[in-house]
Amino acid sequence: MKLKHFAFLASVVLLAACGGGKLEGDVRFIGFAPVTSKDKDVRAIETRCPYCGDPIEVDTPRHKAKKSCNNDIKWSDKYNCPSCQGTGRCAACTQMEQANGDCYNCKGQGVLIYAGQSPECPNCKGAKKCPSCKGSQKCDYCNGEGKLAKEFVKAKAAKFVGGRSEEGLPDSDPREPVKKDEAKDAKEEPKKEPAKEEEKK
Ligand SMILES: [Zn+2]
Ligand SMILES: [Zn+2]
Ligand SMILES: [Zn+2]
Ligand SMILES: [Zn+2]
Repeated sequence: MKLKHFAFLASVVLLAACGGGKLEGDVRFIGFAPVTSKDKDVRAIETRCPYCGDPIEVDTPRHKAKKSCNNDIKWSDKYNCPSCQGTGRCAACTQMEQANGDCYNCKGQGVLIYAGQSPECPNCKGAKKCPSCKGSQKCDYCNGEGKLAKEFVKAKAAKFVGGRSEEGLPDSDPREPVKKDEAKDAKEEPKKEPAKEEEKK
């Protein structure tokens, strides 16, 4: 027990030392886990630069693409799973109180029995098990790990990052006429007249 505790502390210290003054990348988890087969899976991940808020790919060490930002960013290797809050347990099973991963709607029968009929259960489509975890009771988002790997977050956020960057970045617009103004300033400088030298005589 003591050794384990020490190892944990050591890793925390190491992380803090690596961090320096950098801010951690802004990772936002959108939407909730579906709890029945009627729910649409609307979960998404957005990753942003913590300094300017622009969409940015996970693991980008510095926001070079935006010259006015150009800040160093650090990224975690793993993120707490938003669907199971890090427990690794299937969100649908937890919320619908599905014991043993059995479908809540038919209580694991696969069919609904009423008025002498037994139509197929619309939630599990007759499979008898939770439509999210198929009865394993593991969170479908993190596969029961409780954590999401950096690569997973990157892949899920690719749509968000890619979609926004195409809308145009005003900071790096090559059509901006910056050089004209600089030339003007240079010409205006030698206007200063050496008036004080006359007083010396
Ligand atoms: Zn930035
Ligand atoms: Zn999870
Ligand atoms: Zn489940
Ligand atoms: Zn069912």
